Amino acid sequence: MIKTILELIRNLFKKPMTVRFPHESIEIPEGFRGEHAYEIDKCVSCGLCFRVCPNRAIEMIEAPEKHRDKYPKTYPRIDLGKCCFCGFCEDICPTDAVKLTKNVYLSTFDSKSVIKEPIEK
Ligand code: SF4
Ligand code: SF4
Repeated sequence: MIKTILELIRNLFKKPMTVRFPHESIEIPEGFRGEHAYEIDKCVSCGLCFRVCPNRAIEMIEAPEKHRDKYPKTYPRIDLGKCCFCGFCEDICPTDAVKLTKNVYLSTFDSKSVIKEPIEK
């Protein structure tokens, strides 16, 4: 009982463990697996990211018509709504075209906004 009371008193003077999100945030550590960054110019369209994805969150699609001269192959479209942020796509990419970033702020009411097109339409 004494131990509990002492712990309670100690905690009364400690800084809270929680922060006032969204006004405050904790520092996101290096190596955190958040939103993908994709560089189409590094991509060789090998499709390895598509094949390794355990959640079928990646689909290889053609570039929009107006970009097809420059980008004639197929490129990954990533649906973050299906993604479990395992990082397999980053690990297997031979050219570092896809990397997971520290961006964790992905909540939205619009499910379409979490689909990352390889190139703007
Ligand atoms: S992080 Fe994992 S689940 Fe998400 S797209 Fe890449 S391979 Fe698929
Ligand atoms: S992002 Fe990487 S793994 Fe995926 S198709 Fe392009 S080069 Fe291949």
